[in-house]
Amino acid sequence: MPAPTLSRPKDCCARSATTSGAGFCGECGEPLIWCMASQECHSLLDKSGMCPVCVQPELYLDAGAASTVREGGKLALPLVVKNASSVGRPLFITGLWMKEDDAGWNEIPLSFERLEAGRSSNVAVRTGVLDHAGIHQVDLRIAVASRYHWREEAFVLTSSIIFPVESRDPDGPVTNINVNADQIGAGLTVYNPTRIEADRAEGQETHVRPIPLKLNRADQDEARLGRRGYETGLRVPRTVEFVWRGFGEGDCPFDGPLLDPSGLLYLGRNAVGRDQEGNDARLLVTTADGALSPLTGSISRQHFSLYPESGRLMLRVESQYGLRVNGDAYGRTKCVTLQDGDTISPLRKTPDALQVSVRFEAEREDVTRIILTRTCSA
Ligand SMILES: [Zn+2]
Ligand SMILES: [Zn+2]
Repeated sequence: MPAPTLSRPKDCCARSATTSGAGFCGECGEPLIWCMASQECHSLLDKSGMCPVCVQPELYLDAGAASTVREGGKLALPLVVKNASSVGRPLFITGLWMKEDDAGWNEIPLSFERLEAGRSSNVAVRTGVLDHAGIHQVDLRIAVASRYHWREEAFVLTSSIIFPVESRDPDGPVTNINVNADQIGAGLTVYNPTRIEADRAEGQETHVRPIPLKLNRADQDEARLGRRGYETGLRVPRTVEFVWRGFGEGDCPFDGPLLDPSGLLYLGRNAVGRDQEGNDARLLVTTADGALSPLTGSISRQHFSLYPESGRLMLRVESQYGLRVNGDAYGRTKCVTLQDGDTISPLRKTPDALQVSVRFEAEREDVTRIILTRTCSA
């Protein structure tokens, strides 16, 4: 039995995506937001920014996990982490933690990170001494990432296992779990090793298949662990609207979300266009009377790119001449996390000649608009 998938794009949007390519859903009108790896997975992101094709982790309790758990004993939890992606996209397992009852989180060292599509890896996890009979709970937290060229989308998921621990006295009362996982909520798996042990003693073949553990997105943990969004809790969703101010007519896109399947915005000297080395916004240095300044010659054809990644706005330097952000110089291929209020100076030697300022507008923790304002003082 496969573990339930986390979430998917709306059916109407998926239908629209197959016919129209880029743009808005013909049925619900929402923007079609593509996965950064859409060249390979041909998939839209779901509402939470996750690609259901690229990011398909599955977590199992391996067959043979059962042993009688009695008061004073420990429970071994042989876990299996699987990359269930169907399109050959590797998944990166970047962290695993476990928490017992009311104790704190414990990081489990992993001997692997990259999991090829369809492959799984085993991780042995063991509880501490279970010092009382009754129901116990183990929480698991797993950090995963999808990577495409230099980009990475990171996520944190949680799962919980509850299991009964029997009294030390072999003739003592048996703990029954009278809960239905569906009633408690998603993300919780009931595991009854004692029951399995009893069945096995009677010669019944049980628990020969791994038990799928339910996984839930943990957006709070994503922020807390620094995997998604900003330290302040603010995050930039892929649906964020870009607003362009101070660019020449025809030198920038219409205000709105980033619809190109690449998920990248290029800015540079070349004209706007989707052909090779074309830009989304054109960077020209102009004088007060609107004439082209010779400084424009120092702007590269594609000077830098902007893209939302793991809930943050990122800048990548494409120019061999580098650029400055808030006065600090960065060289080609460097990636910089942009914050509300940052100033990009494309020209390293004359930073004041051309600037693009970055302003965020947010509703609660979601950035809804990113306002990019071009100013020249050449
Ligand atoms: Zn739709
Ligand atoms: Zn994808």
